Amino acid sequence: MIEFIEVEKRYGAAVAVEKLDLTIEDNQFICVIGTSGSGKTTLLRMINRMIEPSTGAIKIDGVDTTGLNEDELRRKIGYVIQNIGLFPHMSIRDNIMIVPKLLKWGENQKQGIAERLIQKVELPLEYLDRKPKNLSGGQQQRIGVIRALAADQDIILMDEPFGALDPITREALQEMIKRLQQEMKKTIVFVTHDIEEAIKLADKIIIMDHGEIVQYDTTETILKNPANEFVEELLGKRKKQSHIGNDMRIADLMFTQVESISLSKSIIDAIRQMTNKKVDSLLVVDDEHHLKGFIDIKDIDRNINKVTNVYEIMRTETASVNQREKVADVVDPLLNMELKYLPVVDDDNCLVGIMTRSSLVSLIYDQLK
Ligand code: ADP
Ligand code: MG
Repeated sequence: MIEFIEVEKRYGAAVAVEKLDLTIEDNQFICVIGTSGSGKTTLLRMINRMIEPSTGAIKIDGVDTTGLNEDELRRKIGYVIQNIGLFPHMSIRDNIMIVPKLLKWGENQKQGIAERLIQKVELPLEYLDRKPKNLSGGQQQRIGVIRALAADQDIILMDEPFGALDPITREALQEMIKRLQQEMKKTIVFVTHDIEEAIKLADKIIIMDHGEIVQYDTTETILKNPANEFVEELLGKRKKQSHIGNDMRIADLMFTQVESISLSKSIIDAIRQMTNKKVDSLLVVDDEHHLKGFIDIKDIDRNINKVTNVYEIMRTETASVNQREKVADVVDPLLNMELKYLPVVDDDNCLVGIMTRSSLVSLIYDQLK
């Protein structure tokens, strides 16, 4: 158990972390989230005294950490900073065993640890004798994670460890760290600025704003009862994605900002609009906003001296989809059609949005979670 008792951190007159009380129970996955500068790193680093609190006490299993020396703290608490890579000149085994070595563990104590850990992340034992450069980037990241577990501390502190990774690698590592935390019964305090990541990983979330904890509760409770507007806004960022599922409708995923032009406008108007908005096609609507077709820059180019109005060259064979249809049903047409997007209409055939290929990408990606 980690207890903060009236802990505060000031730098001169500036408050990094306001006076707070906080208890973190054992075997919990705790995510700390908040805007930049809200005090997340400070809160985290006070736990292992990389940062000394200005006032108050921090206890681990009832023992005030002021009384512990550096080695004792290291034995209890592991620390992983953002994107720290492996040491290139050391073997994978030596990389994994850095902290046990720092703690001067005996040979007996170190026996078999690297082997056990590498099997936990489904990499072959032979890799232990390789250099990092002979592993793929994703494999190196997995080694980075198990390195944090090698000294078997009860508490692991992680400060935006997956911050700069591509989404696919990141997903894989999130799943891995969550699984290992449960299997190995660790308490993890994990700083992130990504609400999706926090919701995916955390048993409980600490939400920080301007050095204060504005909410600390189970993920479920926070989702159901956000403490204030700040939390609501933070959660709002994920609303769009949270709908995504098998029966998701077009209306949930479409973009409502659409470049359209009235069929009575001139070709010059169309060119101007395309230039201003940096698009190469426009949907064409009538005065009641019914979808009538589309025009493409190539069509304009071919007819520039022959015609004057949009309706004379627009193509009327435009595919469209009703906003109440299922997203799953438009995957094929969207991937196979000429347009890069699909116009979305309501029951009166009025244009209400577009579905893009990139909105599908995020849909497909979301279902991998
Ligand atoms: P976060 O990790 O949430 O981005 P930090 O905990 O790093 O925020 O910082 C919290 C606040 O404390 C910030 O306003 C930051 O500028 C300030 N701060 C952090 N470290 C120092 C320092 N060594 N000296 C002065 N101010 C600091
Ligand atoms: Mg930080």
